[in-house]
Amino acid sequence: MMTHSRRDLLAMFASTAVLRTAAAAGRPQPNILYIMADDHASHAISAYGSAINRTPNLDRIAQGGVRLTNCFCTNSICTPSRAAILTGQYSHRNGVYTLDDKLDPKHNHVAKELQRGGYQTAMIGKWHLATDPTGFDYWNILPGQGVYYDPTFIKFGERKKYTGYCTDLITDFTLDWLKQRDAKKPFFAMCHHKAPHRPWQPAPKYKDLFNGQTIPEPSNLYDHYEGKARAVADVKMRVGENMTRTDVKQDIPADLHGDALRKWAYQLYIKDYLRCIQSVDDNVGRLLDYLDAEGLASNTVVVYTSDQGFYLGDHGWFDKRLMYEEALRMPFLMRYPAGIKAGSVNRDIVLNIDFAETFLDYAGLKAPADMQGRSFRANVEGHTPKDWRKGMYYRYWMHNDGDHHVPGHYGIRTDRWKLIYYYGKPLGMTGAHPPDTEAAWELYDLRHDPREMKNLYPDAKYGRVVRELKGELERLQREAGDAPA
Ligand code: CA
Repeated sequence: MMTHSRRDLLAMFASTAVLRTAAAAGRPQPNILYIMADDHASHAISAYGSAINRTPNLDRIAQGGVRLTNCFCTNSICTPSRAAILTGQYSHRNGVYTLDDKLDPKHNHVAKELQRGGYQTAMIGKWHLATDPTGFDYWNILPGQGVYYDPTFIKFGERKKYTGYCTDLITDFTLDWLKQRDAKKPFFAMCHHKAPHRPWQPAPKYKDLFNGQTIPEPSNLYDHYEGKARAVADVKMRVGENMTRTDVKQDIPADLHGDALRKWAYQLYIKDYLRCIQSVDDNVGRLLDYLDAEGLASNTVVVYTSDQGFYLGDHGWFDKRLMYEEALRMPFLMRYPAGIKAGSVNRDIVLNIDFAETFLDYAGLKAPADMQGRSFRANVEGHTPKDWRKGMYYRYWMHNDGDHHVPGHYGIRTDRWKLIYYYGKPLGMTGAHPPDTEAAWELYDLRHDPREMKNLYPDAKYGRVVRELKGELERLQREAGDAPA
């Protein structure tokens, strides 16, 4: 017969008590490891069918969990998307409209709610919200954009320069924090990479990766913007033409122009972009290995995403901002063996403002009423609510900045259609007065034209579709608390 020591009995009693507490709360509070890259488009992840690279470690998350195919950001640019993710609010609610806005440190957000709900919280890597983080038990962030090589970090307000590669260091600091955490409490760790943001500087070990290879070009690399709004045809995000020496790491030959320049520059920048991603993939693998080794994988929600998508030569562009698919779509891979079926795919329209409420749902905590998203826990667990959204509202506020010249715009995307309005004015921008652009509408049929090459708005045949979409756009805009331009 087995005998129990007093210590064993106490341990048994304690674990029963923990289970009772968890049962009383409905479910145990899982750990949440949130890994976010910067500008990593889903079509540069092999789990999403990438034609240009392999990402075995990101694929591990997809294989063990769910891949979201219609996860979208509500404002496709770094600082505003980060604020939307944290606060669960659109830009016009959280006050972070453009790159020049700051997140008010007093503003509520998901980490504060989780912290109050018993989580230990950490923010490591690229923060990019101008003010110091609040709501984190530990934070160690890059100043602003940060740099790739030998970066400086700010830990609790103190600056220190480190030797090494940014992506490796961010992972080192995340692992260091995980190792010293209080194992009795659940954790919420935000591990935010700088990579693969411009200027796409790879780790020394990957500087020769893809050498001698030709990376496949997107089918619309040589788009000349026929039929698109004039302000869109004028944006300064063209591969080659709008790049600098820093982007391609060499002098741009003076005799190269137009499509030939685009072809030449595409190979250079995309290879560096993909080399940066290879380090992100390696480092995600290190975090997954740690969870495995510590027996944490089964009770940890792991997320991999990016603050928005990116044009990988699509429409001849790099960068993001415009509401076309490649910039609008965020990669979103999520693993939680206790609730999410391995290798599943979800096609519901999910937004960056939904992340906060989803994490609170997993933590068994009630989301504050002023968060504007909705938990998609049921969706990723295979039970999409009947009344789930059929369309999404998007707005890019940073009108016609001196660098990229992207017009301010808003629009609606449904499963089939996209309607965009470029309103031509610098609305919602503090301190800046960029020139107006020509106002225009665009309509795309995503079912028959997934690359968004043919603007159907001028075609009278689509009058009824346009009227219905305008009505729905107005409704979504009002529901979000925003107003027409
Ligand atoms: Ca970004």
